[in-house]
Amino acid sequence: MNLIIFGPPGAGKGTQSDFIVKKYNLFQLSTGEILRNEIKNKTELGIKISSTMTSGSLVSDEIVSKLVERFISNKKYKNRLIFDGYPRNILQAKNLDSLLRKYEQKINLALNLSVSLDIIKKRISGRSVCLICGKIYNEYFNKAPLNSNCCGSKFLQKRSDDTLDLAIKRFQAYEKTTEPLIEFYKNLNLLKVVNGETSIPQINVEISGLIDSKEGWL
Ligand code: AMP
Repeated sequence: MNLIIFGPPGAGKGTQSDFIVKKYNLFQLSTGEILRNEIKNKTELGIKISSTMTSGSLVSDEIVSKLVERFISNKKYKNRLIFDGYPRNILQAKNLDSLLRKYEQKINLALNLSVSLDIIKKRISGRSVCLICGKIYNEYFNKAPLNSNCCGSKFLQKRSDDTLDLAIKRFQAYEKTTEPLIEFYKNLNLLKVVNGETSIPQINVEISGLIDSKEGWL
């Protein structure tokens, strides 16, 4: 099965994708993560997109489509992808549909994590990632443990686009360009909306229920 998970920045897409990946043995395709790695590794693409990313704007559809095709075309990931942070607009959704057709695949479920701006502000401005193990923490909701080997304060790093101002800007961009995907996937009968404001384990359970209820997938 191939899944899409979308919602405003800070909705918990990464956290929930991690969980789904482990439980259903899928592969997480996070376009944001791939693009951040390009910048970190100072690749030609990384240098090109660096200022766009730090300003909180979207990278071009063409660049993202090419990146995504690398994964969809790889037999290792066939029908095992969870798209996190992609598609971000209707054009990308249509591109994704064509790419999947080209490689004889389809989307089985589109999960929309719904979270209000008030919660998003805290989630984004409080978020940090452990440089050692990649675990995500939040100073308001899910504090990192005091640890000297991993996840301790000296290993926690904030993403450069995780500021309050940019959180608001990215939320507004989401409402304008990504939220229309709700209608798009509703019309295809693939949409399930999940309340992203409850606890992480509660959301895990709700998402598992939705995946498990689709017979013949696994
Ligand atoms: P994310 O980690 O999904 O919040 O993405 C972080 C940043 O990466 C975004 O603000 C965009 O600059 C870029 N990005 C990630 N996914 C996409 C996408 N599907 N289309 C365009 N830009 C993207």
